[in-house]
Amino acid sequence: MPKTVGVAVSNATFHFDKLYTYAVMPDQQEAVRLGSMVLVPFGRGSRARMGVVLACDEEPEHAKLKYLFDVAPASACLTPELLRLVHFLKERTFCTYYEAVKAVIPYGAQYKPALAADGVTPVLQKQLTRHTENSYKLVGTLQQKPKPTAKQLAAVALLSGGERTQNEMEAHGITKAVLDNLCAKGVVECSKVNKSIDLYSSIPLKNEPITLTAQQQAAYDALLPGLEDTAPHSALLYGVTGSGKTLVFLKLIERCLALGRRALVLVPEISLTPQMILRLKSRFGRRVAVQHSALNHTERLLQWQMIQDGGADIVVGTRSAVFAPLESIGLVIIDEEQEHTYRSESAPRYAAQEVARQRAAENGSLLLLASATPSTESFYAAQNGRTQLVRLTQRYGGNPLPSVQIVDMRAELASGNPREISLAMEDAIRRNLDAGRQTILLLNRRGYQTMAQCDDCREVLKCPKCSVPMVYHKAGHKLLCHYCGTQLDPPPKTCPACGGKLLYRGFGTQKAEEELAQLFPEARVLRMDQDSTAAKDAHEKLLARFARHEYDIMVGTQMVAKGLDFEDVTLVGVLGIDSLLFAQGFRAYETVFSLITQVVGRSGRAKDPGFAIIQTTDPDNPVLNLAAAQDYDAFFEQEIAYRKLGLYPPFCGLCVVGFSGPKEIEVARAAARFSALLGRQAAQQPDLPLRVLGPTPGNIEKINENYRYKLTIKCRADKRFRDLVRQTLGLYEQEKLPSKATVVVDMHSDGDI
Ligand code: ADP
Ligand code: ZN
Repeated sequence: MPKTVGVAVSNATFHFDKLYTYAVMPDQQEAVRLGSMVLVPFGRGSRARMGVVLACDEEPEHAKLKYLFDVAPASACLTPELLRLVHFLKERTFCTYYEAVKAVIPYGAQYKPALAADGVTPVLQKQLTRHTENSYKLVGTLQQKPKPTAKQLAAVALLSGGERTQNEMEAHGITKAVLDNLCAKGVVECSKVNKSIDLYSSIPLKNEPITLTAQQQAAYDALLPGLEDTAPHSALLYGVTGSGKTLVFLKLIERCLALGRRALVLVPEISLTPQMILRLKSRFGRRVAVQHSALNHTERLLQWQMIQDGGADIVVGTRSAVFAPLESIGLVIIDEEQEHTYRSESAPRYAAQEVARQRAAENGSLLLLASATPSTESFYAAQNGRTQLVRLTQRYGGNPLPSVQIVDMRAELASGNPREISLAMEDAIRRNLDAGRQTILLLNRRGYQTMAQCDDCREVLKCPKCSVPMVYHKAGHKLLCHYCGTQLDPPPKTCPACGGKLLYRGFGTQKAEEELAQLFPEARVLRMDQDSTAAKDAHEKLLARFARHEYDIMVGTQMVAKGLDFEDVTLVGVLGIDSLLFAQGFRAYETVFSLITQVVGRSGRAKDPGFAIIQTTDPDNPVLNLAAAQDYDAFFEQEIAYRKLGLYPPFCGLCVVGFSGPKEIEVARAAARFSALLGRQAAQQPDLPLRVLGPTPGNIEKINENYRYKLTIKCRADKRFRDLVRQTLGLYEQEKLPSKATVVVDMHSDGDI
């Protein structure tokens, strides 16, 4: 029972993010432990701040210590493993302790400062209180005098059949007032219970034995030793699209559970969770928990508590599920491991892979990365024997990979077709429709028209707050900024710069939907993008309807490209991804290659062979052609040579330091100052390999009224380098610059900040 504790507080700046010592009142000592959430008086005014206990029985720094205001109950304490992850995140990602705390536990499990009933005493309050509900049970008999009301009699009759929640009672027309009254009489007792929700409970159990193909079995056999022993291992399952990687996962999970251990399965985006949950739940039943951001706070918290209470053997979810409080993990699977969604773009800026690797090391688990297009870094590690490499080279059922045709859209325009859908594409879609098959079309732009340009001065209409073009959305008839949400309603007809006529151009998913409806009036078209899937569970419902063949064509952004498995899809079309061919950042080629290979891979996965068409204005583009050939090995050879020549990961670490603020000159000055400080620190360690590029303006120069600059540092991403950055951050914060830019350090950026 600690008498003093070291607390990391919320809203600390990097430089002041250290442990502050507090005294613990005797009546709090029982509750306080490492990982406790606490409320502390902070600073001169002793304002209440959230904090987390990271040390116990610290030596007091001052004779007179302040006391903790309040301590959250022990059930809200971080587990030892989560605590270690907090330290890990702080050391790896330059976040503050409290930012790390907020990342490892979901919002619903967090606490916030509040005032006690007296209106003055600071106390902790749960962020979420609605996750419990009242439950009533009969504990006495109802007196006949005064004469009971009909409702009271009905309530007692219901409860004589067993305990019931308030919700259930209300469904029978019995109000809380009636129940309160019965409680006051001592007839009924009320208690708080966790709301019970069994997400996806309607999924039927289907426990047919899995028969792996010879190649899948060989992969499984190769991976098994790493799963069965208790030392950490890592492996890369490199399997072409449709080769049945998921079946290998299922078999491994089955074995993992049989060994009495647990499994964590990560998927790159929310749209893929329903399918994975379906496969896991139908196989393993109820002990599957879900963690992703499309759950509401209550659902998320209840699932989290189920994991924490040991009620889940399998956790499936997106990036943040890597922090699930699952114990004795035997297997961590990261599906489509190359996806950028595994890298967090806000503090803490971690990559799910590095956290997973850490947890695998702590738990002695097998970390299995899987993909049809592994990241260049992972494949390189596998080639060099640092990770085990396991291959699946054939599609299940023996289907060949889809054959792919590239259509030159410049020639298309020259030949007089004004549409964005080429004649070849139109033809193929029609044939597919006639054959009663389904089609998936990819277009990486949402909205209707993606740009408004002045006919006179050629100026593109940009967002007033960001340096990006505004996008026309037909629903609502307005222009929208996809970065800050600014709207122009109604859309202007003339150029704000010169008064010339604005021409609306470009092709977004909404327009594609419209063109498809004109070309194929009989077809049922589903649009999948951020706008059409904003409602809760919309993803899941729409995909389920597509799976039931209630639609013939699905057109959408990247969310239709990955992981989906529909047996009737035999045609995939890429309507447009050209902007990606010319994107910046050292991972640009890899991203395009992977996206195209993945989307093409949605075609012809079951009985019938598949076909794909790619529309482009750059038909000779080498990356595009390698992707069309689905030749990962050739792509990798080319990519790794480029990375080596240009000195990019995996041949060095890449650290991007981003600066932003409302005054451009100050942001530029801050970046220059940081660069100078870094240079000065680095000069003391001349043997440290380091190459600093910049400062340069960010690729997008302004977002939401904030100007952006960046420094790109090629380095060896090790502790020494991180220490150097940490020192520099500290020095920078101590400097007296007139006004400071916000600084972020990102060790996982692709340079495209
Ligand atoms: P991948 O993830 O490698 O793209 P999937 O795991 O989705 O491939 O498998 C592709 C399709 O083949 C799925 O519909 C899957 O059910 C089926 N499949 C693969 N292997 C088997 C198997 N051994 N037994 C039955 N069906 C299989
Ligand atoms: Zn904007």
